[in-house]
Amino acid sequence: MLISAPVLMKAREKMEMLELELDEPRFGEVRVKMVASGVCHSCLHAYDGSHSGIPMPIVLGDEGSGIVDAVGPGVGHLAKGDHVVISWAPTCGSCKYCNLGFPALCLNTPAIGKANGDVTLFHHKGQDVYHYGPATYGSYIVVPESAAVKIRDDFPLEIAALIGCSVATGYGAAVNSAGLRPGQSVAIFGCGGVGLNAIQGAVSTGAYPVIGIDVLDSKLELAREFGATHTINLTRQDVEEEVKKITGLGVDATIVAVGSTSAMEQGYKILAKQGIEVILGLPNTGATFPVDPGILMQGERRIVGSRYGTGNPLVEFPKLVELAISGRIKIAELVTKRYDLDEADEAFRSLAAGEQARGLIVF
Ligand SMILES: [Zn+2]
Ligand SMILES: [Zn+2]
Repeated sequence: MLISAPVLMKAREKMEMLELELDEPRFGEVRVKMVASGVCHSCLHAYDGSHSGIPMPIVLGDEGSGIVDAVGPGVGHLAKGDHVVISWAPTCGSCKYCNLGFPALCLNTPAIGKANGDVTLFHHKGQDVYHYGPATYGSYIVVPESAAVKIRDDFPLEIAALIGCSVATGYGAAVNSAGLRPGQSVAIFGCGGVGLNAIQGAVSTGAYPVIGIDVLDSKLELAREFGATHTINLTRQDVEEEVKKITGLGVDATIVAVGSTSAMEQGYKILAKQGIEVILGLPNTGATFPVDPGILMQGERRIVGSRYGTGNPLVEFPKLVELAISGRIKIAELVTKRYDLDEADEAFRSLAAGEQARGLIVF
């Protein structure tokens, strides 16, 4: 079928709205008519060229929601009309990590830009067009069944898109990766789409104090709205000093929801003994930060990575929907601005400028 999508031909250039041919769903795949797509920082890395190795032309988008439109042979759990949130980590069903419940660590993930079987499902005038994960900026997409997670159909499908990356990633980083417990202190670097969800996750564990750190006062205001009890503005306050003042010993956990290596370096230095730093922001390709092993060893401090909130989307997404319905987490409030599909360039500009918690492309 013919679908429309903004296509990135070259990094740092405006995307082109094109009509693409989309292959029919194959064995175990479903076609989804997209309803909304969040504008995620990982796609911005492809867009602005800060991550290398992205094949082009490519359709971006790793966070979306829609309605199942067609199912391929062998699909067991989904039917036409189901409301789904798209996961960028389908389970292969056979590797060690998928079987442990961590499909974001799958060993059989197709090459970047490709679908299972080393093919692209989008084509334009006989040329292959790549997909950035599920490519949620396509008006229709085809994904493996396990990448379309069924949710209740009485939940607003538009905002459910955000569950597919920023909500699951941020919430899970606090709850699963950091394993926060009531009364533990936590500092969150970066109060954008992912960081705000880490704050919500921290609040739901009973952590206190919950410290939001950012360079923009507008983001810190949002941090407070999402439950931060303290905020630090990096541009005019000294993080180490402020954290000492608030906590005495340092924080029990740091969650770094930005790609800044200086935040990552600062993040482990403000840890109390036995504290854990959780890194979920991705710096530019090749960027590193120095670590003093003495600080880690002498205080039994840990630095860990977190991918997709250390959880299984098939379990986490429906749970996050329930938490949103019960009012325990906010999702609609994350959306700063809505865009049409052909305004994706503007959405990226605004994201890069730090103007939004989350931009939402609505089809
Ligand atoms: Zn994402
Ligand atoms: Zn796997």
